[in-house]
Amino acid sequence: MSTPRTVRAARGTTLSAKGWQQEAALRMFHNNLDPEVAEHPDELVVYGGTGKAARDWRSFDRITASLRDLEGDETLLVQSGRPVGIMRTHEWAPRVLIANSNLVGDWANWPEFRRLEAQGLTMYGQMTAGSWIYIGTQGILQGTYETFAAVAAKRFGGTLAGTVTLTAGLGGMGGAQPLAVTMNDGVAIVVECDSSRIDRRIEHRYLDVRADGLDHALELAAAARDARRPLSIGVLGNAAEVFPELLSRGAPVDIVTDQTSAHDPLAYLPAGVAFEDWRALAAAGPEEFTKRARASMAAHVEAMVGFMDAGAEVFDYGNSIRDEARSGGFTRAFDFPGFVPAYIRPLFCEGRGPFRWAALSGDPADIARTDRAVLDLFPENEHLARWIRMAGERVAFQGLPARICWLGQGERAAAGQRFNELVAAGEVSAPLAIGRDHLDTGSVASPYRETEGMKDGSDAIADWPLLNALVNTSSGASWVSIHHGGGVGMGRSLHAGQVSVADGTDLAAAKLERVLTNDPAMGVIRHVDAGYEEADRVARAHGIRVPMREG
Ligand code: NAD
Repeated sequence: MSTPRTVRAARGTTLSAKGWQQEAALRMFHNNLDPEVAEHPDELVVYGGTGKAARDWRSFDRITASLRDLEGDETLLVQSGRPVGIMRTHEWAPRVLIANSNLVGDWANWPEFRRLEAQGLTMYGQMTAGSWIYIGTQGILQGTYETFAAVAAKRFGGTLAGTVTLTAGLGGMGGAQPLAVTMNDGVAIVVECDSSRIDRRIEHRYLDVRADGLDHALELAAAARDARRPLSIGVLGNAAEVFPELLSRGAPVDIVTDQTSAHDPLAYLPAGVAFEDWRALAAAGPEEFTKRARASMAAHVEAMVGFMDAGAEVFDYGNSIRDEARSGGFTRAFDFPGFVPAYIRPLFCEGRGPFRWAALSGDPADIARTDRAVLDLFPENEHLARWIRMAGERVAFQGLPARICWLGQGERAAAGQRFNELVAAGEVSAPLAIGRDHLDTGSVASPYRETEGMKDGSDAIADWPLLNALVNTSSGASWVSIHHGGGVGMGRSLHAGQVSVADGTDLAAAKLERVLTNDPAMGVIRHVDAGYEEADRVARAHGIRVPMREG
């Protein structure tokens, strides 16, 4: 039956695969396509424009059947969302190896990708869509919370209370923005052209209210800001029109960013195009549509630079809109920085990044138990404790219950051990899948985002994510993936993912200890190599060996 249907991961402790490692991959694969989790599940699209979990429904069925049939010493190979082989390996090897959207350098562009995709030869895997560890909008929420906290620390005395943030895009990732701003006590106005996305974020409690129009949005924002009351406001409109309009009105905005799907010009609605005509127009003339989208992004970014000139804190939120705006003819597009060099790099130097886990039981009580374990493990980390408590109160689970928090070198391995003990002792009711975003310290080369402005100029060196995938494969991860084009689009990034399953066995404990030590250590050595002193200090403190620093 190779037609669209509703998918939901199995819950509980009854296995339909031959072991928990395979069952975990199966449940997380299915979970990515749960309608509560995926943005467009009928098309197998999970998030991030067209980021998919499987190439087509026939591939979905064959991946499902293969995972059910897979032995504990076999490995399933997935090529851009299609299962292409099952090989005999060994029990320390990953149960699944995935390569998504990879193209040879000179061919690594959207037109060539789309040509191949139309022939059914490839798919876009984004980051965690094609590597089966997307956990809904919460996945990005904590990173967004950290970023806005860093903005608050840098410019506004440690809080966003009394400030207004203007942004756009309420999709799978962008939908985290309003809640991240209000968690930092600020006011957010979020422009979105798809009315159903506004409703969805309100339903999931990521967005507080919908304004009746721009005047109403500004009134609500001013009242909340003056009362230093957190509030997030969704407003229906096209950012390429609304941002310039707000600038020309002199709207009092303190922080500006954007999370429309700008990485793919066909996923950005140009000004003057009706929402209802979007898909048909993009399909009928992709080149003409790309030109119009880029011209609109130029207007959108020009307004962002205008806000910067007027004194606002402005940053690119990892969707490549600056490069698209430059292609659209706006020469000052790179006047404002990307969020990684501006706020996140110091965390990467400590091997810190988006650690996440999902309860394969489906029972929210299991996540509550792991939340308590994290609070007990790191009692001195108040920032982390504030996040875990707020997430427990305010985050609505989508699909399998899951949690994310940023942990650094040493901390991830400690959490992995503790989680495996909880499974072994029956304190949680089933195993836990432990993974991360590809937007991490040592797993991505992306010159407009994670590796923008590296100290030694090594932004485009892509050996690091490949080494990362190899080291996780060698260390005992349960599934490992190598992708191209995630976040910022074709030709602009290479990145790797890993997921490791805590099933309570001694073998899992040994694997987790190695993977969760070596995976963040890749980030530490990558930053040591680029000349970051903080990373050097972390490497020494954790006994991470760097041959070029020895002897
Ligand atoms: P998505 O496709 O789910 O959502 C994008 C939203 O933008 C859609 O709801 C769409 O209707 C809206 N939109 C498109 N054009 C618009 C316009 N002109 N005006 C107003 N709204 C418009 O994508 P997503 O998963 O939310 O990701 C958003 C972007 O962020 C992508 O480019 C993605 O690659 C990038 N991203 C950033 C990070 C990060 O850490 N900062 C992480 C992952 C992805």
